[in-house]
Amino acid sequence: MKDFYKLKKTICEFTKSDLDKYEKDIRKLVKDPKFICKKCLRVSSKNDFLCKPSKI
Ligand SMILES: [Zn+2]
Repeated sequence: MKDFYKLKKTICEFTKSDLDKYEKDIRKLVKDPKFICKKCLRVSSKNDFLCKPSKI
């Protein structure tokens, strides 16, 4: 999870290779979603991983 936080990238911006590399961390992040991205419709338990976060 450490590398993942260091990326400072939203999961919205992730490329296929990022997704492959950080799949485990992303799964943790989307398991219990609290926020949804209004633009990309991705979900996350933390708002700082989405480009336009909105509370679910
Ligand atoms: Zn987004």
